[in-house]
Amino acid sequence: MGGLFGVVSKNDCVTDVYFGTDYHSHLGTSRGGMVIWNGSSFNRSIHNIENTQFRAKFDAEIVNLKGDMGMGCISDTDPQPLTVRSHLGQYAITTVGRINNLDEIVAKEFSERKNIHFMETSKGAINPTEMVSVIIDHENSFPDGLLKAQELIQGSCSILLLTPQGIYASRDKLGRTPLVVGKKKDAYCVSSESCAFANLGYRFNYELGPGEIIFVTAEGVEKISPPGDKMQICAFLWVYYGYPSSTYEGVSVEAMRYRNGALLARNDNVEIDMVAGVPDSGVGHAIGYSNQSKVPYGRPFIKYTPTWSRSFMPQKQEIRNLVARMKLMPIPELVCGKSLLFCDDSIVRGTQMRETVDLLYKCNAREVHIRPACPPILFGCKYLNFTAARSAMELAARQAIIKLEGKEPASLDAYCNPATEQYNCMVDCISKRLNLTTLKYQNIHDMIKAIGVDKDKLCTYCWNGKEL
Ligand code: SF4
Repeated sequence: MGGLFGVVSKNDCVTDVYFGTDYHSHLGTSRGGMVIWNGSSFNRSIHNIENTQFRAKFDAEIVNLKGDMGMGCISDTDPQPLTVRSHLGQYAITTVGRINNLDEIVAKEFSERKNIHFMETSKGAINPTEMVSVIIDHENSFPDGLLKAQELIQGSCSILLLTPQGIYASRDKLGRTPLVVGKKKDAYCVSSESCAFANLGYRFNYELGPGEIIFVTAEGVEKISPPGDKMQICAFLWVYYGYPSSTYEGVSVEAMRYRNGALLARNDNVEIDMVAGVPDSGVGHAIGYSNQSKVPYGRPFIKYTPTWSRSFMPQKQEIRNLVARMKLMPIPELVCGKSLLFCDDSIVRGTQMRETVDLLYKCNAREVHIRPACPPILFGCKYLNFTAARSAMELAARQAIIKLEGKEPASLDAYCNPATEQYNCMVDCISKRLNLTTLKYQNIHDMIKAIGVDKDKLCTYCWNGKEL
């Protein structure tokens, strides 16, 4: 994924850019970057945040920065923001998303233009943000360049482009990732996450529509290009990776999780002693479940947060698993002899879930029931790098299907439908592998109902393979 944050102010904005970007740390694990316009040039800095938090890396630098415009990013992939000088002038650019046809664009669009070079390569691969800047530079203005980029890119790409006059913000063509404008007395900000607003004094001002382009100055927001009529915002924002205090399309993440958990409980009839959430993103769903079922909410294990922050997410899966295991501490008195129901955001591979369940049984849990807050994930994300490190074959649901059928079936349609025998066999297979007492997934209709956005405007590809 990744997240963006930009500010245009009448006063110095370095602190806002620093904290506002930091509030996106849950969205990326690879690189953090900041760029500040000081009135005549850009000051830019990029750090590796794989093992250290964004704030710690930039802490010493911000005291030397001054400027009334700037932006930052948390990136899961390429180092950014990039600074550019072209026939359009000086600018800085940062992007979030996933460009699936990068090589095709380079081959097709740039083949007849001689002597093009890309400087920000990593292991020989072109930096996607630099490729976007090259597309923009081939047009006659920033708006034309941004429109051209959105027209060419397959996948998704939301863009902030900082010029000496203000910030262009361009939301990806189908609005898979959000972009929201905040306002305070002397400044405007543009942000992936609205949770960045409150503590910096901003209030919600405007949410960009799919493919929309705006230009933000300290005086206000100018609409440059209108939104498109098709939207596919990622439903997983609410279920898992959006921050609980954020709101997208007018729908609060935390409130959605309460509704979703309540709907899970309404369809359930299991006898349990306690409801719990797998921290962090399972907690909201579990509170909703507990409120609806009237079964008490508890914390049979606690996350050790003083040194393991949520944002610390190593790139290697084995180290992630180790970190996940080390973070969770059981409370034996709450587990021993108890029948426990856990809500989790989802089951991706199931590795961490298996370890968590083993830990509970070691503490003599009587029963462990799992209620994922979304349907089985059957397809890897093609749009946001969301499950990029995992091939679809690694998904717990796909592994179960291969075990049941001996090979990949020609169609997964039957496995997407909870009314089929195939679906039930798949869930049963996953449940046995994870050693669960019962496993019951949220169904797609209730998940969409809990979000409350028109189903045609939501991307649900992970669960049903459907795309526009
Ligand atoms: S495929 Fe899944 S993670 Fe990717 S945008 Fe769609 S709903 Fe979100």
